Amino acid sequence: MSERLQPNTNPADLASTLSGFHFIGGSLTPARSGRTFDVINPATADVVAKAAYGDADDVDVAVAAAAKAQPAWAKMVARQRGKLVAECGRLLSDHVEELGRLVALETGKALRTESRVEASVLADMFVYYGGLASELKGETVPFNPDMLTMTVREPIGVVGAIIPWNVPLLLMALKIAPALVAGNAVVIKSAEEAPLTALRVIQLINQVLPPGLVNILSGFGPECGAPLVAHPKVGKVTFTGSVETGRIVYKTAAEKLIPVTLELGGKSPMIVMGDADIDRAVGGAIIGMRFTRQGQSCTASSRIYVHESIHDEFVARLKAKVDAMKMGDPLDESTDIGTIISPDQYEKVRSYIRMGLESPGAKAHACSAMPTDARLTKGLFVQPVIFTDISPDARPAREEIFGPVACVFRFKDYEEAIARANDSEYGLAATIWTRDLRTALDATRRLEAGFVQVNQNLVVQPMLSYGGMKSSGLGREASLEAMLEHFTHKKTVIINMT
Ligand code: ADP
Ligand code: MG
Repeated sequence: MSERLQPNTNPADLASTLSGFHFIGGSLTPARSGRTFDVINPATADVVAKAAYGDADDVDVAVAAAAKAQPAWAKMVARQRGKLVAECGRLLSDHVEELGRLVALETGKALRTESRVEASVLADMFVYYGGLASELKGETVPFNPDMLTMTVREPIGVVGAIIPWNVPLLLMALKIAPALVAGNAVVIKSAEEAPLTALRVIQLINQVLPPGLVNILSGFGPECGAPLVAHPKVGKVTFTGSVETGRIVYKTAAEKLIPVTLELGGKSPMIVMGDADIDRAVGGAIIGMRFTRQGQSCTASSRIYVHESIHDEFVARLKAKVDAMKMGDPLDESTDIGTIISPDQYEKVRSYIRMGLESPGAKAHACSAMPTDARLTKGLFVQPVIFTDISPDARPAREEIFGPVACVFRFKDYEEAIARANDSEYGLAATIWTRDLRTALDATRRLEAGFVQVNQNLVVQPMLSYGGMKSSGLGREASLEAMLEHFTHKKTVIINMT
């Protein structure tokens, strides 16, 4: 057996070894067209590598490789597939440091608070799903005593997975691991802003998996993502990204009549009742808002409704906590907050902050301090902003910003808080903070969101179904049900014994 790849914790060096490639059919492969695009470190504006510029020809080659590898994989004993997927998880856990560093380099997410954590959750998700292979069960149905009637779970075939840049490793794991355990092959398209670490993950796990089973393409949405969704041999698409692109993907899938999973945007509410433990709620707002990820989360608790009796105290403590967070070089261990991903997102976030500043009555509380390091002068740093007294109709209060911008509103009574929390096109996550059990329970029933928590703000966890209502998407991820319902077909079989 050939030697396994060793961890390379020098991200610039690792980036250059990955430069210019997709990973198709078991090996690093340049784009058929020979074209590439730049991968940029958003903390310095340096070009760190090139990425292969994928198009429909590359999609054809990758889907063919997947289709070729899938039947033998599906025939393998289920637990053996699971063992191999768990083995991928263990292998990835040996590479947490290098993956964390590389994702910090290409996304600007701080290593200690975000990137390293994400790399370890990636590994854990493979281990979790690897253990679920034995659960690919059907049922027997008491249809007729003379007929043995049962359902069986069968793989779909080739799954197309499209991922965004904000948490590329976790989100790819939520797609690849259950798809594989269920007996499918996968073609992933990475986000154009963050192609390298995803590519490295696929290179690493290909040391364990048969060639062609998991392939990855880098490229842009219309040129590479769209032909993947439209490809006749792709039988299922799982997508995480914006609502706008989600609708395009869904339309193409509708033409082909194939199933989709869509994880889209959010503007998640957090209700803090007057009896809440304020410090705990402030801690929850910091996690919920993903301040350490510059707010770049579809789940960000960006609408915070605080009872008027504690509003000012809550805002003061929240501001003090965010002020104490350090913005700086994402690869520096002391950094809490890194950069925005790209110049486009940077402009978008700043335009929302401007809109908030111009909104009548709104007060902006800028937090933390811009880094002073001369190497970072071109870095896409944005000071976190807490808006108070902003109109609920102002665009920053209603629309997904995907930046470090939280709106804190005061409310007088519980009914008003619930109504305002639900007054959104989105429904991904929601939390309520209270010591009163009746209020908590009532809120869990009435909040329109796929993931509702009381007195905490946990992020995505293996074994808990995660996904949205309303414009936040379709389907669930991260659980056993996600694997069964989204990566298999259920077939009914009747054996007439008369
Ligand atoms: P954003 O650009 O705000 O990060 P997108 O939803 O545009 O969010 O991007 C998420 C993923 O979807 C990325 O990998 C992107 O390349 C891909 N994508 C964009 N447009 C399309 C499209 N028309 N078809 C398929 N994938 C697309
Ligand atoms: Mg886009």
